[in-house]
Amino acid sequence: MTMAEESNCIFCKIIKGEIPSAKVYEDEDVFAFLDLSQVTMGHTLIIPKVHQKDIFHLEPEIAAKLFKHVPVIARAIQEAFHPVGMNILNNNSELAGQSVFHYHIHLIPRYGNTDTFSFSFQPHTDDYSNEQRSKIAAAIAEKIR
Ligand code: 5GP
Ligand code: ZN
Repeated sequence: MTMAEESNCIFCKIIKGEIPSAKVYEDEDVFAFLDLSQVTMGHTLIIPKVHQKDIFHLEPEIAAKLFKHVPVIARAIQEAFHPVGMNILNNNSELAGQSVFHYHIHLIPRYGNTDTFSFSFQPHTDDYSNEQRSKIAAAIAEKIR
């Protein structure tokens, strides 16, 4: 990460109060605020205060401090607005839909089939044998450190 990346980062500016935001929660490690786009009402972002651009750069210790707030803030949204459910997601890389390169978790409350969120998994279950699945799992497993 270069200083330029951090000083041009819109979320770093939000943390510093240089850009206004609708704050939901703040402590020394994390900041949570409403996503401007409000994909559904209550759509909230949780970010680490340190500038780390995506999941591939997020330090596990920072992640631990960040992720522990996810269920707490999810339940707060649930109590406030009574959604039926919630999608929690994080985009990494432009290809995957990331547009702000400061790591963030989206909490998107779901109010029903006709709410304004759309997302779909496209299963390819039958395209893989169990042996292929085992080989894929082993390739990942051997890289975990
Ligand atoms: P991404 O596309 O990187 O997963 O998500 C970035 C999110 O940041 C978008 O949903 C977008 O609406 C939100 N966003 C971008 N600029 C601002 C801003 O200045 N303030 C707030 N509150 N949200 C922003
Ligand atoms: Zn940043």
